[in-house]
Amino acid sequence: MSLSFSRSEVLQRRAEGFLPGGVDSPVRAFRAVGGHPPFVESAAGAYLTDADGNRFVDMFGSWGPMLLGHAYPSVVEAIQQAATKSASFGASTAAEADLAELVQRCYPSVEKLRFVSSGTEACMSAIRLARGFTGRNFFIKFEGCYHGHSDALLVKAGSGVATFGIPGSAGVPADTVKHTIALPYNDLAVVEAEFAARPEEIACVILEPVVGNAGTIAPAPGYLAGLRAITKKYGALLIFDEVMTGFRLAPGGAQELYGFTSGETAPDLTTLGKIVGGGLPVGVFGGRAEIMDYLAPLGPVYQAGTLSGNPLAMAAGMATLKALLAGKDSMYAGLDKTTAAMADGVAKIAVELGIGMTTNRVGSMFTWFFTPQPVTDFATAATSDTAAFARFHRGMLERGIWLPPSQFEAAFVSAAHGEREVELVLEAARGALKDAVK
Ligand SMILES: *Cc1c(COP(=O)(O)O)cnc(C)c1O
Repeated sequence: MSLSFSRSEVLQRRAEGFLPGGVDSPVRAFRAVGGHPPFVESAAGAYLTDADGNRFVDMFGSWGPMLLGHAYPSVVEAIQQAATKSASFGASTAAEADLAELVQRCYPSVEKLRFVSSGTEACMSAIRLARGFTGRNFFIKFEGCYHGHSDALLVKAGSGVATFGIPGSAGVPADTVKHTIALPYNDLAVVEAEFAARPEEIACVILEPVVGNAGTIAPAPGYLAGLRAITKKYGALLIFDEVMTGFRLAPGGAQELYGFTSGETAPDLTTLGKIVGGGLPVGVFGGRAEIMDYLAPLGPVYQAGTLSGNPLAMAAGMATLKALLAGKDSMYAGLDKTTAAMADGVAKIAVELGIGMTTNRVGSMFTWFFTPQPVTDFATAATSDTAAFARFHRGMLERGIWLPPSQFEAAFVSAAHGEREVELVLEAARGALKDAVK
């Protein structure tokens, strides 16, 4: 059963000579779970193939973007076609408004938007815009929510940071985060109290409407509506960071799933990323036109990007959104069914084996927390036995299932996953769970 990872180990050692930790994004290094990370050579549908020729069921989907599965034919073709016309112009193309129109159709609250190249940029820019628009400096984020790695947002920022136990990050001056207020998730009273203490100083509240970056955590009933009411009352903006949930939980993301699509209930600003680029680097921030028009060249808030709206990225995003909208009724139902079978199936095996596990799932994102406690915020997520998770992760990998390499990450199911993959995951989990708690 034991797979060989010898080629990947050689590649990892080589990479470590050039790249810190051998990686370009820290969680990829597997430090939280131990062992060498497999090096990927290719992927198709629900499967990754590594440098040693091992084939894995992909349960992290490039950390979210690959909703349709890997190398989806119309996405591949769109990128190829666009590439023949040159990879970048630094001038406007029709594709940008085309993709914007499609995004807007899915997110009625997004009256206008701007494309950037990552979720980090989208969230950083949304905060700047909210501050510029309101003329206020403070903002509220929640413990365990990740909004990219910009300085002001790198406070109690979930998975990567939690995985490494770094309080924020070195290199972020205290002055830079003195206007960042981090509060526990799913607790309206602390938000109300914070606003009451500074009624005219808080520009916005930013949150993951379903948390993915502390593992999967759903908003408590009434929580999102409560945040909307409090921000309205104090004249602050509400920002839904749907970089992960956008197009995953529904075409219209968490705001569609929970009914916050328009009028009084809608968020003022929304950030998107991941799926909207179909695997290429795209981020979006958008919302009420009155706010978006505060951006340069119309308004005083500056924001720019050499590769923003890149034609290859727009083409990949367009092909992805078209495919998911064309199949949406059956696709989202299928995702839900497959993910439920997988998440609940393993939860049942854990019960049979007497393992205290909490399974949180919303649509096609889920987390198996190695804790018997309900997980409703970062503090309860942190009660998980991360050593048991690390053994479980290794056991699953050895059995051909590649889970996200941290307890504090959501696993993702794609439209290419089906009954066969559910069977493979359940079979692997039976063995890996036994190893995990030994
Ligand atoms: C991934 C993620 C980001 C950051 O996006 P990058 O493209 O990695 O910069 C921001 N917010 C959320 C909710 C995310 O999941």
